[in-house]
Amino acid sequence: MTKGMVIIGAGECGGRAALALRELFYDGPVTLVGDEPHLPYERPPLSKEAMASDAPAIKAIASDEVLAGRSIRHIHSVQAVAIDRAAHLVHLSDGSVLPYDKLLLATGSTPRRLPLPGLGARCVYLRTFNDALAIRAHLSAGNRIAVVGGGFIGLELAAAARRLGATATVIEAQPRILMRGVPAEIARTIHEAHEAEGVKILCGDGIAAIVDDGAQVRIALAGGQEIVADLAVIGIGAVPVTGLAAEAGLTIDNGIAVDAALRTSDPDIFAAGDCCSFPLAVYGGRRVRLEAWRNAQEQGALAARNMLGAGEAHAAVPWFWSDQYGLTLQISGLADEGSKVVRRDLDDGAFILFHLAQDGRLVAASGIGPGNAVARDIRLAEMLIARRAKPAPESLGSQTIKLKSLLAA
Ligand SMILES: Cc1cc2nc3c(=O)[nH]c(=O)nc-3n(C[C@H](O)[C@H](O)[C@H](O)COP(=O)(O)OP(=O)(O)OC[C@H]3O[C@@H](n4cnc5c(N)ncnc54)[C@H](O)[C@@H]3O)c2cc1C
Repeated sequence: MTKGMVIIGAGECGGRAALALRELFYDGPVTLVGDEPHLPYERPPLSKEAMASDAPAIKAIASDEVLAGRSIRHIHSVQAVAIDRAAHLVHLSDGSVLPYDKLLLATGSTPRRLPLPGLGARCVYLRTFNDALAIRAHLSAGNRIAVVGGGFIGLELAAAARRLGATATVIEAQPRILMRGVPAEIARTIHEAHEAEGVKILCGDGIAAIVDDGAQVRIALAGGQEIVADLAVIGIGAVPVTGLAAEAGLTIDNGIAVDAALRTSDPDIFAAGDCCSFPLAVYGGRRVRLEAWRNAQEQGALAARNMLGAGEAHAAVPWFWSDQYGLTLQISGLADEGSKVVRRDLDDGAFILFHLAQDGRLVAASGIGPGNAVARDIRLAEMLIARRAKPAPESLGSQTIKLKSLLAA
């Protein structure tokens, strides 16, 4: 008898996988289990549109009607607490048990916690819609917001705070913001944009102590400076949610380890999205874990195909974007695979950095500019990366040679 497909984690990846199973005409039971009280929803707006709105709303991936219309059972506010692999059963926190033929773990990632005593209710993290509502309530004129960590989410929040008239101080222990995966030249452009908007950015100074007395937060830096804030948002990265998989005895390696087809060490259990690490074909099988919206979507859809037996390998090139003020940053590929950088200037101050490996292969492109200025060229670069192309550096840097012509070559 068909037991059906169970998906744990009703986020971007889990939601897309459930929809994809139906698009692929799978007609057995599909159950989506999520521990949040909401419909599956998009997280990128939480640090962008939700912060700009007076009444933030969820951007749902699928409505109740769509889920019901496709016979997708969505169990919300319930956690999967154990997997019985031998019996093909998932145990839930409400005591119920779900049988499965194939199981998808799409448990995502969770904010890395700041390992310091003294954190209280005014020291918060941003991952969920409920977190966003709590933070949004503090972003008003005159309030003081401290952002611990100069990563994407913290910087987007700093931008939102300034737009709403709050002050914003970003504290980054590394010598510059966006150390992970973003070239220094692009990080500098973003740094300057923030300073022009009145954000104070303090780099190269770690936190010695935090005291949250319930009325305000006092942050003492190792260098002696003290920052006093009404709210401290901590954005120091994320860690994959792997506890359930680890307890079930699945292999963990910087996330739930999967093969190119997103299969875990158990052939009936797949993992996808932020929670898994996988071999990336375009970089010779290098194992990576991505925390990116498009990856979660693509892997959700691929996991669905492979749960139905397609046996297809993940072949996509990583892609990420961030919006801050009027600027959009886009990165395609993995910049750390490159050893040489070529710059191409576009209109309106926009520019793209092409990252080339030792053998001349294009391995990444990072661009920044107003609105959609870099979108088209980053898309073309992505196609060149996927083809493992070795374009001439002079052509990449030229403002007159169209990238499209390099694709034809
Ligand atoms: C504020 C914010 C802004 C972002 N902005 C961008 C951006 O601009 N560009 C970009 O590319 N990416 C961005 N991202 C990243 C992107 O949203 C994630 O990569 C994507 O959400 C990952 O999808 P996922 O389904 O793997 O995980 P998630 O969306 O985290 O979903 C996992 C779900 O599983 C649930 N869960 C975990 N364990 C269990 C369990 N045992 N039982 C039941 N449920 C469980 C979790 O509570 C969660 O609801 C942003 C993320 C955040 C938080």
